[in-house]
Amino acid sequence: MAEDVLAAVRTAPGTTELRTFPMPTVPEDGALLKVEVAGICGTDVKMYGRPPFANPVIMGHENVGTIAHAGPAFTRRHGLVDGDRVFVEHYVGCFHCEWCHRGEYRHCENTDWRTNPEARRYGYTSAEHPFHLWGGFAQYMYLPWNAVLHKVPDGVSAELAGIVTPLSNGIEWALFAAGVGYESTVLIQGPGQQGLSQVVACKQAGASTIIVTGTTRDAARLRLARELGADHVVDIRRDDPLTVIKDITQGKGVDVVLDCTAGAGVAPVLLGVDALKRREGTMVIQGELAAFPDFPVKKVTEKAITIKSARGHSYRACELALAQLASGRFPLERLSTHTFGLDEVDRAIRAVAGEVEQDVVHVSLLPWSVAAR
Ligand SMILES: [Zn+2]
Ligand SMILES: [Zn+2]
Repeated sequence: MAEDVLAAVRTAPGTTELRTFPMPTVPEDGALLKVEVAGICGTDVKMYGRPPFANPVIMGHENVGTIAHAGPAFTRRHGLVDGDRVFVEHYVGCFHCEWCHRGEYRHCENTDWRTNPEARRYGYTSAEHPFHLWGGFAQYMYLPWNAVLHKVPDGVSAELAGIVTPLSNGIEWALFAAGVGYESTVLIQGPGQQGLSQVVACKQAGASTIIVTGTTRDAARLRLARELGADHVVDIRRDDPLTVIKDITQGKGVDVVLDCTAGAGVAPVLLGVDALKRREGTMVIQGELAAFPDFPVKKVTEKAITIKSARGHSYRACELALAQLASGRFPLERLSTHTFGLDEVDRAIRAVAGEVEQDVVHVSLLPWSVAAR
């Protein structure tokens, strides 16, 4: 095995450097992952532009690879052997707190970088912590005993498995958080990788009406939404979305609104409140704004709206996402539109941000693809 590991390190806001780290000595209960694909999402755009702390970080929190070397205790605990392909969740729980015992390790303090500077979370943890390799924008990643792994089913390629994270979020938010099911009517705002994944989850669960909104520059993504099962797509620059939604639902409004927009300000929440049915609708939101002036709290309470927060994925959502990918029922490979090498992390993140490239849906980083150095 090589002595040095090549990694792309975020060293300052909007700045990446290629660095090498010594190959870690793997303890009995740890392992090394050879990273095949690291997916990039809107969170990376935020964390890259405005890092939450100054320490160097190997980003990459949506990681798929093969077990390169596992200690004997790791093998016993995880039932995995060298060569197995796995999806690694970015959460690294403690597995003895209340949240972990409930199976909700995504809420564990051990993985919460917002409140705990010692937290471990792939793609967010300082590369100065022991073992250094805490992100997928590197050729290898360190796996401690408490890494959460999902075996990738046979026949699912690494690149297709790169879609697991958005798809598991789709299942988590639409089905588990918002309760979409048979005959549900759903408004999905934003046709990016996250919105399209919600389309697949809602369709599979039996939603009867799926409406997806986007803007004029989303034309290709809105077409893909139709192919994945959306019943209606709305270009909000051309048509008034509320009028269209009311027409489609015979004036009733929708059961569920899922906000998968980025940088759209208060508009998606305001549209969601108006687009929901008369009583007891559910809206899943993503908080980008520190404050919401003139929040329509009266309307929200009068309509008895339930607002939930988009908050990652659970173990079960990941397993269901992998099963969905393995089924081949939806052309999910169509989501995977762009790949970049390890020396192109900056460009890859800017592609997700919409600054470079066209018709970007899902971007994958391939750490072993790197220009000759
Ligand atoms: Zn992500
Ligand atoms: Zn815990």
